[in-house]
Amino acid sequence: MNVLEVKNLQKSFGTIRAVQDISFAVEAGEVFTIIGPNGAGKTTTLEMIEGLVTPDHGEIHFGDMNWGQHGVAIKMKIGVQPQSSAMFDLLTPEENLDLFATFYEKARPTEEILELINLTDHRKNQVKKLSGGQRQRLAIGLAMISDPDIIFLDEPTTGLDPQARRHIWDIILELKKLGKTTILTTHYMEEAEKLSDRVCIVDQGNIVTIDTPSALIEKLTKEREVRLAFLDGEKAAEEAAIFADNLSSVARIEREGEVLKLWTIKPEDTLLELFKFTKEKDYQVEQVSIREMSLEDVFIAFTGKEWRD
Ligand code: ATP
Repeated sequence: MNVLEVKNLQKSFGTIRAVQDISFAVEAGEVFTIIGPNGAGKTTTLEMIEGLVTPDHGEIHFGDMNWGQHGVAIKMKIGVQPQSSAMFDLLTPEENLDLFATFYEKARPTEEILELINLTDHRKNQVKKLSGGQRQRLAIGLAMISDPDIIFLDEPTTGLDPQARRHIWDIILELKKLGKTTILTTHYMEEAEKLSDRVCIVDQGNIVTIDTPSALIEKLTKEREVRLAFLDGEKAAEEAAIFADNLSSVARIEREGEVLKLWTIKPEDTLLELFKFTKEKDYQVEQVSIREMSLEDVFIAFTGKEWRD
């Protein structure tokens, strides 16, 4: 069942076409991630859906509700992670949550939220004394206060260290267990891959592709990257490269010093042929690896551009 559907969203700021044409639908209980480089239009898309920015064109439906007719009801249904600046720095997490709770008719108990965002031990510390990761967790808690069905998190892990990011991931996975729908934006491919049921890759205001992380990666796994590092140095790698270039299973080759990288649709066959060659020449291979494709590869394959964090 779709809880959100957007059709042909468009938004310009003066001459900048921030969102050119975005359409997608999100199912109940999904973690749906919008990923894209800086300026791709992620925040603008999210803010239109959240009712904070008016689209120039397009439709937004929450089931059979829309902003024009059912604004109040939609606000009860969604939770938006506030900007860090919206929190009260001199108050504690507990006081911030209690205060935000007064904005709503029904609220999830503060203790439950503190537990969920793992801030129970810090509930009496002033917000200004919290770390960046703790503040972000509180922001997610504030989005949860009205116990919404759909939660919007705009780059909740940007600027956090790996451990703090993982704490946020745990909360997102916990929200999923609670049956919530989460719509997330991120710069981090690894994050999108780990958390999402589906990923929507955007670039320059348009959707590049939408699918499950595994299906996106699967589309590319026809080709796998194989790496061989030669103990005998550059000359061995160069000869192996010339040999591999003649193999029909090999699509592309790169060489960096004594490391040969090649892309093949049949890694086993290619490696077998290469090992026959190295044995014949008496070259020693120090390391062999077959790399799994990542969402980053998907982005590069679809856009022809390098991924920039
Ligand atoms: P980031 O990852 O950097 O947050 P993003 O994918 O969220 O980027 P947006 O913030 O939606 O991208 O911005 C898309 C484009 O629209 C950018 O070129 C941005 O500079 C521009 N833009 C966004 N908001 C405004 C605004 N209020 N006024 C003018 N231009 C804007």
